[in-house]
Amino acid sequence: MHSDKLLLDFGSGGKASQRLVSELFLKHLGNSYLNRLDDAALLDITGPLSMSTDTYTVDPIFFPGGDIGSLAVHGTVNDVAMLGAKPRFLSCAFILEEGLDMAVLEKVTASMGEAARKAEVAIVTGDTKVVPRGAVDKIFINTTGIGELLVKDGPSGHKARPGDVILISGTMGDHGLTILSRREGLEFDARIRSDSAPLNLLIEKMIRELPGIHVLRDPTRGGLATTINEIAQQSNVECRLFEDRIPIREEVQGGCSFLGLDPLYLANEGKFICILPGELKERALELMHEDVLGTGACMIGEVRDEHPGKVVLETPLGGNRLLDMLEGEQLPRIC
Ligand code: MG
Repeated sequence: MHSDKLLLDFGSGGKASQRLVSELFLKHLGNSYLNRLDDAALLDITGPLSMSTDTYTVDPIFFPGGDIGSLAVHGTVNDVAMLGAKPRFLSCAFILEEGLDMAVLEKVTASMGEAARKAEVAIVTGDTKVVPRGAVDKIFINTTGIGELLVKDGPSGHKARPGDVILISGTMGDHGLTILSRREGLEFDARIRSDSAPLNLLIEKMIRELPGIHVLRDPTRGGLATTINEIAQQSNVECRLFEDRIPIREEVQGGCSFLGLDPLYLANEGKFICILPGELKERALELMHEDVLGTGACMIGEVRDEHPGKVVLETPLGGNRLLDMLEGEQLPRIC
């Protein structure tokens, strides 16, 4: 590029934008769909489809375990996959602050390209807006994803049934604590890093073999506690969690204690909840354990009918308490 800082002209739709597209975006994100540069992408896909959109505003944009670019791919791919779908295509819209270092934009874009290749999805259409200094903080990214359903009557938050078991694919709170500690300039422990990862390939393997999975959901913003409450409400069942079975890294627990945070409310970006009939549990755990993204998978609870719409946390001493949703957002700009 002709400048090492992003100029307003680069989002103008004129020659400067063209150079940005050809010299930066196509270089890192290019594929046979995107390279055509028509007004829209032409997709060879058949329904029913799963579709999801999310806007990424995470601060800081680079963090241990990822950056805003890889997160914008993983977050949307994971949501599309949670309906039992194979994510195929993503759109990508950047809102960029004038004066942003071109090197930063290039690093984020390269990271998006790599994340998309690993998740086996293509970024097929996009948009770039550059706004005056201060109108946005460095870089915001929106991605929308679509995927083909792998099973006819796939998983949904409405399908948890009494007698089901609740599995989790690994440790809770890693992403949320990573972002917060970096933002506060705290470095508790070099081992603390985001779990940001694409879950779709593991989900595909599980859905193909176990189409009877009732619910899949990634506990992102609001963490496990919020997500499991959503499921209890949607399915009108009690979700009972066993506190001592919920995996939390020692260093994450330590950081949370220091900051007065509950890891059950912290965002995850590479984990999922799987709710399914008890007889499918062993095979589901085997499939998860075979994958690097599910090595820490375990059963953390069960679905009952006693307190419909509620989440009950059973403590190690045998006490019970209601695990509620938060009133508002615990941490802004976490994803
Ligand atoms: Mg989700």
